[in-house]
Amino acid sequence: MLETKNYEFWFVAGSQFLYGEETLKEVARDVEDMTEKLNASGKLPYKVVCKGVMTTAEGITNFMKEVNYHDEVAGVITWMHTFSPAKNWIRGTKLLQKPLLHLATQYLNNIPYDTIDFDYMNLNQSAHGDREYGYLNSRLGINNKIVYGYWGDEEVQQEIADWQDVAVAYNESFNIRVCRFGDTMRDVAVTEGDKVEAQIQLGWTVDYWPVGELVDVIDAIDEKDVDTEYAKLQQDYTLNIQHNSAEKFEESVRYQLREYLGIKKFLDDKGYNAFCTNFQDLKGLKQLPGLAAQLLMRDGYGFAAEGDWKHAALTRLLKILSHNDRTVFMEDYTLDLRKGHEAILGAHMLEVDPTIASDKPRVEVHPLDIGDKEDPARLVFTGADGDGIDVTIADFRDGFRIISYPVECRKAEAETPHLPVAKQLWTPKVGLKEGATQWIKAGGGHHTVLSFTIKESQIHDLAMMFGTDLVEIC
Ligand code: MN
Repeated sequence: MLETKNYEFWFVAGSQFLYGEETLKEVARDVEDMTEKLNASGKLPYKVVCKGVMTTAEGITNFMKEVNYHDEVAGVITWMHTFSPAKNWIRGTKLLQKPLLHLATQYLNNIPYDTIDFDYMNLNQSAHGDREYGYLNSRLGINNKIVYGYWGDEEVQQEIADWQDVAVAYNESFNIRVCRFGDTMRDVAVTEGDKVEAQIQLGWTVDYWPVGELVDVIDAIDEKDVDTEYAKLQQDYTLNIQHNSAEKFEESVRYQLREYLGIKKFLDDKGYNAFCTNFQDLKGLKQLPGLAAQLLMRDGYGFAAEGDWKHAALTRLLKILSHNDRTVFMEDYTLDLRKGHEAILGAHMLEVDPTIASDKPRVEVHPLDIGDKEDPARLVFTGADGDGIDVTIADFRDGFRIISYPVECRKAEAETPHLPVAKQLWTPKVGLKEGATQWIKAGGGHHTVLSFTIKESQIHDLAMMFGTDLVEIC
């Protein structure tokens, strides 16, 4: 489900005719060599395609138009091998509609004191060209990424890799389509927002569909398909019957699998890749989707509860960025304010993504004291230890604001026998008191996306690409 296009990045060197034909041929060889080695490094998640040396305004402008036109091209990487007159880049850079990375590097990583001469300088004067090009991008107000350093260094290659993931997420953001089953939860402000503005700024399509139409699809799911999913569930997870009769347990779980298959079919048939539910709007459904929502998140669909379409879309976006690696919809659930234990316990009534489980999730059936429906099946598990980042998005009428802080994640200190939900503890790196104060001050809500794999720099770059307001608490 998370599959995206087979994206690639086009790589060009900037130069001019001042140094003669031979020098340009050598630069062309160098950029080919860099491309081959970058691809062979095994560091980059997406292929780099060498597009040669650009020396004229006309050539650069045509190149950028081609980039815009080719859907499989997620962005451009430029290298100014030497002094490439920045004026040549103005028109093309202004036309470019995709992320731009300026690789400020030099083909060779040292100064060969014994042999250096003016021929060498003609070939290796990036120090000059980078400034000329940087001046232009700064003057045009282009929010491009700059990666500085030797292109063969692992650190530099990792920075390019991180940016590629952000650039692909940016491109894919325009394909995010959220299906809202029901409206936002009554009386709640922070989950509200301007859906048209979300499409303008972030590319998200957000549509409403009546739950009744979903119920028809769920009810029509073939019993044999539920059998197949039940067998898979038995393999992947532990079925924990506890206080339930075997019959009631199986019936509840099977109904969630029916919801899983029904929602999946509904979304796929209509081209949606994210959805939200609201426990206040379940007419015709026997259970609030719990296990169903968890399995769909595992598969890579975006989701948020209580009609929170912004976090359904953000979950989908950041799952793309992280290749669906431990990046999940989350909620600030309850607090530990004791000295030395300061932490937020993250969870939800049901809908916690099992990709962050550190133990084998258990399928359990318990009553839900909200929504007045049958006891829903859900996955219960323990979260993980490790560094993470917590991200939220809020609508401030004049635009969207992304708020984030790096966090230290831990497993919950103990089981909660009377609260059968999946749990994850975390503490902001700046401390709970400082972090939460700034978060609240910035207007961040309780719904978030928690990731064990996304870096602060990537959230920064993503916000730059969208031009959204960003509050980084660090
Ligand atoms: Mn919630």
